[in-house]
Amino acid sequence: MSQPTTWDHPEPLAVSSAPVPHYGTGSLADLLPTLAAGMDVPGMSAAIPELAPADRNCVFLIDGLGWEQLLAHPDEAPFMSALIGSSRGDTGRPITAGYPATTATSLASVGTGLPPGAHGLPGYTVRNPDTGELMNQLRWQPWTDPRAWQPYPTVFQLAHEAGVHTAQVSSPTFENTPLTKIALSGGTFRGKLSGEDRMDLAAEQLAAGDRSLVYTYYAEVDGKGHRFGVDSDAWRGQLMYVDRLVQRLAEQLPPRAALYVTADHGMIDIPFDEQHRIDFDEDWELRAGVALLGGEGRARHVYAVPGAQSDVLTCWREVLGEQFWVASRDEAIAAGWFGPTVDERVYGRIGDVVAAARDDVLIVASEREPRESVMVGNHGSMTPAEQLVPLLQVRS
Ligand SMILES: [Zn+2]
Repeated sequence: MSQPTTWDHPEPLAVSSAPVPHYGTGSLADLLPTLAAGMDVPGMSAAIPELAPADRNCVFLIDGLGWEQLLAHPDEAPFMSALIGSSRGDTGRPITAGYPATTATSLASVGTGLPPGAHGLPGYTVRNPDTGELMNQLRWQPWTDPRAWQPYPTVFQLAHEAGVHTAQVSSPTFENTPLTKIALSGGTFRGKLSGEDRMDLAAEQLAAGDRSLVYTYYAEVDGKGHRFGVDSDAWRGQLMYVDRLVQRLAEQLPPRAALYVTADHGMIDIPFDEQHRIDFDEDWELRAGVALLGGEGRARHVYAVPGAQSDVLTCWREVLGEQFWVASRDEAIAAGWFGPTVDERVYGRIGDVVAAARDDVLIVASEREPRESVMVGNHGSMTPAEQLVPLLQVRS
């Protein structure tokens, strides 16, 4: 007679084995404070000391262009590849995005200069402790008071108050979104549809002040990666295009300027089979005791029904084995996944169980998340492919 065993589930991974983002020494949250400190904005400190101060600083954020993907495609990105290890300064090293490696979280880290545990956008979807509902951090649904959700000033606002000319040059559709308001506001938002127009305007804005801080953004590398994969023709085409955008901006830098090219996260392609795509909606073991499933396929927040927290943790560990780092909320916080501290208002937004993918696997939810569940390229976790993002530098 067979005994109940977990023979098909390997040992769970120790939470402490997860490669935690480099908060405070080399993460996205450290970039703008370092640049602002170099422009004498009060209260800012240079956490990335090798970035020499400049009077005019521009950050170009390429959505979804991870460090490893850039390294793997030098032919499609000759300009950016030449900046890696270039002799023109301390350029071309990766920094970490932050956990989870997802757009809403990373944009908030960039703009506020704070890790997710402080700015409070610790996932793609997270539970709002006040309503008990899931909230989508990218689309801001359902609507929630932005200032209560993320009360800290942005680095742009602090720089603007200190007399630095600040501007954000992005898609017009983002001008009035809550995410822009809480992460990127301060100074002037300028919307331009074409990438070329954005580069030209960013250069113009950079020259518009003696001291200036300008942010610009391009989305479609991420978009094509999600739909077709990070090695697809469509993705490669986007990489070639964005490489030319970087060059276009670099060639227009005004005097005393520095351009930093970075990204909000990398990406990893996930095969389409049941081994690599575990369907939460079809898996009674993973569903047991779960009230809400948040996050995304490679970075799950699991909210248990009251009293079931430890059962859910045990079950997720057994089912997922070595494929995921599975932590209780307190373990994840203590291990520093969300930064050195987690604000009280943010605590309940984090799952009772937090599951971060280690292998090329996903926890999809075919019924709850039909659109997200069919994406080729994915991101969110702490693997180098997702977590490491470029920090390339061009100085005039
Ligand atoms: Zn994405």
